[in-house]
Amino acid sequence: MSITPEQFASLDLAATQAGLAAGDFTSEDLLTASLARIQVSEPRVNAILTRDPEGALAVARQADRQAKPDPRPLAGIPVVVKDNLMTRGVRTTCGSKILENFIPPYDAGAVEKLRAAGAVIVGKANMDEFAMGSTGENSAYGPTRNPWNPDRVTGGSSSGSAAVVAYGGVAAALGSDTGGSIRQPASFCGLVGLKPTYGRVSRWGLGALASSLDQIGPLTRTVRDNALVYDVIAGHDPRDSTSSPEPFQPCLAKVPDGVRGLRVGFDPSIFNRDGLDPVTGQTLRQALDVAAQAGAELVERELPLIDYCVAAYYVICACEASANLTRYDGVRYGVRAAGDNLWDSFAHTRGSGFGDEVKRRIMMGSFALSSGYYDAYYLKASQVRHLLVDAFSGLLREVDVFLLPVTPAPARLLGTAATPLENYLGDIFTLSANLTGLPALAFPAGATAGLPVGVQAMAGYFREDLLYRLAAVVEQALPVTGLVPEGCPWQRPALEASA
Ligand code: GLN
Repeated sequence: MSITPEQFASLDLAATQAGLAAGDFTSEDLLTASLARIQVSEPRVNAILTRDPEGALAVARQADRQAKPDPRPLAGIPVVVKDNLMTRGVRTTCGSKILENFIPPYDAGAVEKLRAAGAVIVGKANMDEFAMGSTGENSAYGPTRNPWNPDRVTGGSSSGSAAVVAYGGVAAALGSDTGGSIRQPASFCGLVGLKPTYGRVSRWGLGALASSLDQIGPLTRTVRDNALVYDVIAGHDPRDSTSSPEPFQPCLAKVPDGVRGLRVGFDPSIFNRDGLDPVTGQTLRQALDVAAQAGAELVERELPLIDYCVAAYYVICACEASANLTRYDGVRYGVRAAGDNLWDSFAHTRGSGFGDEVKRRIMMGSFALSSGYYDAYYLKASQVRHLLVDAFSGLLREVDVFLLPVTPAPARLLGTAATPLENYLGDIFTLSANLTGLPALAFPAGATAGLPVGVQAMAGYFREDLLYRLAAVVEQALPVTGLVPEGCPWQRPALEASA
């Protein structure tokens, strides 16, 4: 009985459940293996900000005392959550110095659901400060390195959640996605990452970036694992006023249903788009071919209003962020810097507590909301958002799923963005899902020079099941594993997807 860290690293959730039920290993064994894997990988990756070995051990032992098989879907299984999800008694920094010492007195809604499903939360994942970023380089605690190649970015802002799953520290982690922050790191790390329909997963207890765009979702190595975790965290929560009362249909059982007869849309002009890396285009084409071979009907449609998304998103996001971040004043929680008077203390607290990107957005957002500029910026961006919602509802009457890239190119080298704008432009393909509230899934479909490349699928509201069905078909045909192979990345031969 027992399990090595290497064995643990390649187990999916079904195999973990089966092993626990059969008594091949205990939950405590799993935790030991998970922590060992994290211990060896962390010095070079920096995915975890806080570990909770004692809290996790108590939960694991409790799971071991339950009669087997334990019906709870994540009973005794180690997971990690992004550090903007409140965890009772465990430090929660949002990747910021201003919350360096913050220990929440409560669990986020999604964390409660994980715990109710029996999950063992081993730690909190590194992230871009207040989820502002797309690479993981904006964390106040240093960047997360891509486990496939430590010179490359992991993608962000859920950088640590992706990296810890990719190196096999856990099989599943939660991230948050405001403009692509689950899907981009999923794509850069060879993982499956879901941005659910807005309102499907409770945002209660999520450190907000932009409340009308934020959603929590799972990052996993397989499609099935992703659906399993999604089924656990989805559902109505009266404490989140934007939580949807729409009845939830579990997705796990539908994953193997295939795509026969589904209309899969794509925009042929994408392939010639300026700045699109050729392998990213080829990967999309590969995924479309697989869908067609599996019986889907390919439908050519224009990707609506794509050139307006970056501008509209960065105005709306900055406006909401500037309002959401007013609460960090050093009075109620977090770090407080002294000053001669109250206003002086506010200024010092925020001046020393926030990093550059956060300050940039607070200034942009306050400017765009100020009288005289509101109509020109915030109102205009909101109008674009309405157009986008209309355009996508038309599009999704004509196709069931729409396939597009996740990012214009695979993970770039750390520290090489010349300006913040360069990073913002990399969000072009992920933003429409957040601006419309539609669900979107990133999943691996190719590779280039040792780096995974993902594709993205969007579907109608509450149709996450369609996304999983398509991704499962692609996963079968183009098996790019989300797990970084042993010895990687240092002696790793170039990875190619087997088509
Ligand atoms: N890259 C986008 C931003 O910086 C999205 C971030 C996110 O999804 N949290 O705002």
